[in-house]
Amino acid sequence: MSKAETKEEMQQDNAPNVLLQTHDIQKIYTQGGESLTVLNNVEVQIKAGEMVALVGPSGSGKSTFLQVVGLLDRPTGGQLLIGGEDAASASDDKRTKIRRDYLGFVYQFHYLLPEFSALENVVIPQMVAGVKRKEAVEKAKTMLTDLGLDHRLDHRPARLSGGEQQRVAIARALANDPKLLLADEPTGNLDPETSDGVFEMLLGVVKQHGIGAIIATHNMQIAERMDRILEIKNGRVISY
Ligand code: ADP
Ligand code: MG
Repeated sequence: MSKAETKEEMQQDNAPNVLLQTHDIQKIYTQGGESLTVLNNVEVQIKAGEMVALVGPSGSGKSTFLQVVGLLDRPTGGQLLIGGEDAASASDDKRTKIRRDYLGFVYQFHYLLPEFSALENVVIPQMVAGVKRKEAVEKAKTMLTDLGLDHRLDHRPARLSGGEQQRVAIARALANDPKLLLADEPTGNLDPETSDGVFEMLLGVVKQHGIGAIIATHNMQIAERMDRILEIKNGRVISY
């Protein structure tokens, strides 16, 4: 890399619209004396409001990448800036704070609290973040209604269909106003038809909230509708 490029990148780091920037991120798993390099020299930049797809074959490192940039796991090396703050080497407390301030997560499995209604599942994380109950309930109702679930507010997860469960999980992920949504094959567990419907709604609410998103998917039709595609290949992430 030339000096000019490095300088340009550093300027971009400081630009207010850069939400996430990695420099030479590496992730190596070591198990029983064997080491496996999953991410190598990863350079990724995500701007505020940008929606990108994350693709790559199974086992290529999509989940690893999302866990590292989502501050659920630490990289083996490299820099990770979120909102200009260095998150890779920050303390656990600081990382928790950055995660709360910036990030929302949706996984392949919904991980909703089984004993609570759809509404409560969206209310509780807001209250944990310090929002008053009344306000949290109002917001949860609005979000669930936007996701077509106004008639399911009082249902527990077990009484919801797979697509409905994932829509509740999406509402929960957005409830605390993240600036970046990280979704790891969010419809990977659904049949193709339901998957399409949930994806439409997911893209709709992300746009409506004007936030950024990194969405791991195997669906190239969906991927091509994003602003950009990140592809993991041999540990590197290429963008197009
Ligand atoms: P993807 O989400 O693209 O399917 P993953 O990020 O789950 O890929 O996995 C990438 C590679 O890292 C795989 O070879 C997987 O077996 C390995 N891997 C993932 N997590 C761990 C771990 N905690 N310890 C050791 N190896 C892991
Ligand atoms: Mg995965």
